[in-house]
Amino acid sequence: MKVMILGAGQLARMMALAGAPLNIKISAYDIHSGDLVHPVTKEVLGHGLESSIDNADVITAEFEHINIDILKLCQSSGKIFPNAESILTGGDRRKEKILLDRAGVKNTRYQIIENRADFDAAITYINLPLILKSALDGYDGRGQWRLKTQNEANAVWQKITKFLKTSPQAERQCIIAEPFIAFDREISLIGARSADGTMAIYPLTENIHTDGILSVSISANENEKLQTQAESMFKSVADSLNYVGVLAIEFFEVNGTLTVNEIAPRVHNSGHWTQQGSDVCQFENHLRAVCNLPLGSTNRIRPTAMVNIIGEATVPQSIMSFAHLHWYDKAPRPRRKIGHINLSANDINSLGESLRQLSMFLAKDQFPALHEAAHKLI
Ligand code: AMP
Repeated sequence: MKVMILGAGQLARMMALAGAPLNIKISAYDIHSGDLVHPVTKEVLGHGLESSIDNADVITAEFEHINIDILKLCQSSGKIFPNAESILTGGDRRKEKILLDRAGVKNTRYQIIENRADFDAAITYINLPLILKSALDGYDGRGQWRLKTQNEANAVWQKITKFLKTSPQAERQCIIAEPFIAFDREISLIGARSADGTMAIYPLTENIHTDGILSVSISANENEKLQTQAESMFKSVADSLNYVGVLAIEFFEVNGTLTVNEIAPRVHNSGHWTQQGSDVCQFENHLRAVCNLPLGSTNRIRPTAMVNIIGEATVPQSIMSFAHLHWYDKAPRPRRKIGHINLSANDINSLGESLRQLSMFLAKDQFPALHEAAHKLI
């Protein structure tokens, strides 16, 4: 089976590694250069979208910010999973909100902002503090602003105007305003859906973000009530989209109730723990779903935490005596994810101890949420 992935980053790389034992041959289409590459070696295998589509049995994507013309061409081949509409929905916060409302899934209240009058109206109707997010091309806290007081309104509006003017998709771009949610925790749910509607869903993951970027994910706790709530929302969203593949949903938890923050139509950073913590990891289950193979068990075999390696962060090899290192073969750059560490233990307390041990090897300014995460578990 030949699978072509739209996007040639670390998610394509990890899918290639997971697909090898199944004899699934992965190529990655770099949407910027138009090259088809091997996602691990980066060897150039071809060039151009049409021939790459012809050569693939199945097409999938590792990110959602993909030009609509590329997606349309893939959709017309009948080979793309999840379908183009699911990918477009994940890449446009407006479409996402409409989908969630239509599926009856609780999400954050919002208003669309296209000009200064809309901006002022949002301040009046939603109340401060506000979170403002670009509808398109926003990720890892990019294209996101916070407005705490009326005094900051002019300055924030200036930043937004500059962003809108320079946006690559200026004519389709807009801003979504949401109330600032004072959440107790951020949580995500990862699951896979097959073409026949069968689903396999992982246990919930708790996530800690720093400056809008995921720092640490922990999958250790059992919370049946939250799991049931999240799974029911997952099923509504996945069925509405007639989704095939792995889908991630990010939630805010407030007083035991979940509100969807956003969806990601792909394998997700908060699911990397499944490589060491579950029977079948998210990368393999995504490939199984899109290749129409039986889904594998999503059972968590032991409490596991994932710690992102970001920017110029360094990691001593000595941690390999008790942790798993996953590098992405990427040059260090501020805010760039260049690898992650997975850490497993037999029980929650031991996982907390291992995280604390890990934190002694790593610089606090480079791994800011690690101490907090260890503290949460002990
Ligand atoms: P997003 O790109 O929507 O995932 O936002 C990145 C991060 O910003 C989230 O993981 C939250 O930590 C924070 N955030 C986003 N939206 C809100 C909100 N409405 N209220 C509070 N925090 C938010």
